[in-house]
Amino acid sequence: MKIHEYQAKDILAKYGVAVPRGEVANTVEEAVDVARRLLAAGASGVVVKAQIHAGGRGKGGGVKVAKNLAEAEEYAKKILGMQLITHQTGPQGQKVQRLLIEETAPIDRELYLGVVLDRATAKMVFMASQAGGMEIEEVAAKDPKAIHKEFIDPAVGFQPYQARKLAFALGLKPTQIAPAVQLMSGLFKACAETDASLMEINPFITTKDDRLFALDCKINFDDNAMFRHKDLKELRDVAEEDPLEVEASKYALNYIKLDGNIACMVNGAGLAMATMDIIQYAGGMPANFLDVGGGANQQQIEHAFEILLSDKNVKAVFINIFGGILRVDTLAQGVVEAAKKTNVQVPIILRLEGTNVEQGRKILKDSGLNFLIGETMKDAAEIAVKAAKSSQ
Ligand code: GDP
Ligand code: MN
Repeated sequence: MKIHEYQAKDILAKYGVAVPRGEVANTVEEAVDVARRLLAAGASGVVVKAQIHAGGRGKGGGVKVAKNLAEAEEYAKKILGMQLITHQTGPQGQKVQRLLIEETAPIDRELYLGVVLDRATAKMVFMASQAGGMEIEEVAAKDPKAIHKEFIDPAVGFQPYQARKLAFALGLKPTQIAPAVQLMSGLFKACAETDASLMEINPFITTKDDRLFALDCKINFDDNAMFRHKDLKELRDVAEEDPLEVEASKYALNYIKLDGNIACMVNGAGLAMATMDIIQYAGGMPANFLDVGGGANQQQIEHAFEILLSDKNVKAVFINIFGGILRVDTLAQGVVEAAKKTNVQVPIILRLEGTNVEQGRKILKDSGLNFLIGETMKDAAEIAVKAAKSSQ
């Protein structure tokens, strides 16, 4: 689960990580109000920041520094409600519904800090780089040595000596080392206690008057740990998520939208991956990943079907089921009901195996609907690709 920058900074502040003073605003009036208060309290300027879950907002025009109240108002008007396009939003962009108004900081250096789960070592890794402010993926690709890493033993946690090593690698001044160590320790503690899989501060800045701040912050939480963080769950903003994915999550369906035109309905994540592969092997492109799970019931199947079909790109539906706990007749019944209800216009291709497969086939045949059946996964994928091409 991702959260907004202003929410992430609230969490950082609780762990003693220095963030600039600021507040979230939902309207231009609120934004002006916050800016007025910050300026009255001595801020030399304010920064107006679009709150969307994607990064790269600066480059996309979603982060603007205002020298005075009039400018703050001008930028708030411009950014609030805009369709902000960044390299992480896709070409359609994301609508800005909130702003973070913060005091500006006199930036001296822009650095990078990140804590992320490293699956290869099964440890959290703390990364630091002098190449802050830019896309870290680019730094990692072009100049991997510019990223310093400390792997964290889960039994002992992040050690002060590791923080010192990173602080020295950042080329900080002697007077900045102790506060940097404190800030990094706070960041790691925040990560560990909230079950975050990623916390990234880019840029982490030093100021001309020698202070340190987290100027930006991105957090991803591990969804599997959310059951023990009811308070964090409240921070979810479904407006930032794909509407079909939100709909799917209501019915405990694992759905991820993709760019192709063959919808997939599969039980089991491994089979879902194999199905996407075989569609591409047959020359097609999957429109989604959908794992209905091992024990899906008829209602879930119906909902899954509705979700698949509400994607306008879909030209064929490929249902690939190995009936184990989910029995093939249950699935077939669900598909028939859903196909009737949604008045489906695109071809439906099925490949069915497993428990009660004969009953399942009979239900499909007796339904009077026109299903295409593939004997093997490969046959079915080829039929699906052909069907998608001709129904275009
Ligand atoms: P991102 O582009 O989505 O990662 O958004 P950031 O919060 O990282 O902002 C992008 C860039 O805007 C930063 O790298 C800074 O260069 C600049 N920026 C953000 N806040 C301030 C600020 O308070 N003062 C100044 N001068 N620049 C800022
Ligand atoms: Mn950033």
